[in-house]
Amino acid sequence: MNLILMGLPGAGKGTQAEKIVEKYNIPHISTGDMFRLAIKEGTALGKEAKSYMDKGELVPDEVTIGIVRERLSKPDCKEGFLLDGFPRTIAQADALENLLSDMDDTLDHVLHIDVPKDQLIERLTGRRICPTCGATYHVVFNPPKEEGKCDHDGSELIQREDDQPETVRKRLEVNVEQQQPLLDFYRDKGYLVSFEGDKDINDVFKNIDEVLGDLSK
Ligand SMILES: [Zn+2]
Repeated sequence: MNLILMGLPGAGKGTQAEKIVEKYNIPHISTGDMFRLAIKEGTALGKEAKSYMDKGELVPDEVTIGIVRERLSKPDCKEGFLLDGFPRTIAQADALENLLSDMDDTLDHVLHIDVPKDQLIERLTGRRICPTCGATYHVVFNPPKEEGKCDHDGSELIQREDDQPETVRKRLEVNVEQQQPLLDFYRDKGYLVSFEGDKDINDVFKNIDEVLGDLSK
């Protein structure tokens, strides 16, 4: 079961990823984790990646692809994997196809959790933080007992700069621009399955599960 998970920030990718890997027993491979592991294991590619990151530079595609290759060759990927945060570009997507074909393998599905932008903005701007103890709340999903006040110490909750509507909207735009070509790429190849992500978490998973269940038959 070789899967890629896609979706904009706030779409609930992390939650669905947890449910998928728990049920299907495949590793959840996020780009960050993959880099951290390669660096920790001290592989040649890990060292190379680190040298770029230390300089604050972008890790070149060939290094990233090499690290993906190393990761997907590990025994825990024998039954498949759930990639998250990779590929980010068409060049990386092409490289992934080549890599899998070298391994006599292929993608099964690209799972896209689709949530309308207005809803994402609501989700992402609802976060409130306590400046005293750092506790986080959400005005809709995890409200404090008393509006605008921390449950622990009664401090006035604040909204971080990052969570202001204008900042969130701009961040989403950047992500939409980055994601759209990949969605088109995978749709053209017949891999893309989109799910309405503006439903209850368990209903979203049920829909994903129906698609994945067919694979494991
Ligand atoms: Zn507090």
